[in-house]
Amino acid sequence: MKTEPIPVDVLAVGAHPDDIELSMAGTLLKLGALGYRIGLVDLTRGELGSRGTPADRRAEALEAAHRLDAAFRANLDLPDGAVSATEDARRVMVRVIRRSRPKIIFTHHPTEEHPDHVHGSRIVAEACHHARLVNYDREPGLERHRPNALIHFAVTPNVLPTFFVDISEHFDAKYHVITAHASQFHRPGSREPETYLSKGDFLKQRRATDIHRGGLIGVSAAEGFVVSQPLAVADPVAFF
Ligand SMILES: [Zn+2]
Repeated sequence: MKTEPIPVDVLAVGAHPDDIELSMAGTLLKLGALGYRIGLVDLTRGELGSRGTPADRRAEALEAAHRLDAAFRANLDLPDGAVSATEDARRVMVRVIRRSRPKIIFTHHPTEEHPDHVHGSRIVAEACHHARLVNYDREPGLERHRPNALIHFAVTPNVLPTFFVDISEHFDAKYHVITAHASQFHRPGSREPETYLSKGDFLKQRRATDIHRGGLIGVSAAEGFVVSQPLAVADPVAFF
């Protein structure tokens, strides 16, 4: 697996090293099984986190990417806790998009609580726009690129998903991917500070959310997403 962007079908961008997995590991496993190439980008190394060193977190992120069979996992090394939609950050993300040339991009929803998620979402949205401008950042060898869709994670209670993905066949594997980030979750006897993620019930509750969402569409488990752009449906009968 590479640590720099290469061409893929699907790009997922998260602020911290476990955000992508917690938001959509099941969908990524499904897309991989369907034959699509997956690329992962973390904006920060999670150095502000209460548990796990940056080195631990890097090793865990690479293990998770391996479990997802990702083509690459890159880290932009933006400052954890101070992610901001600066011109530098936007330009770096444009280069990631132009190198990886994804058909679709997934990232945080702009109304999530953590400021890094909010600003990360904005960086990705602005970079999606500028990546298509031929005269923006004329880096030699990089062609402009326009992804077909920017899709947001729907992981917070204030967000109503636009669509759900059936992950029933990848439900157990999803949590195998997530628990690659072992430093972040409950470990009996650990002396590290307790966090929202490390409380004993956290993963049980995430599983329950997936199962509940599955029930909404008549399957065992599902993940939800938001598309904010207008959907062009050529054949409503086939689509629905
Ligand atoms: Zn995060």
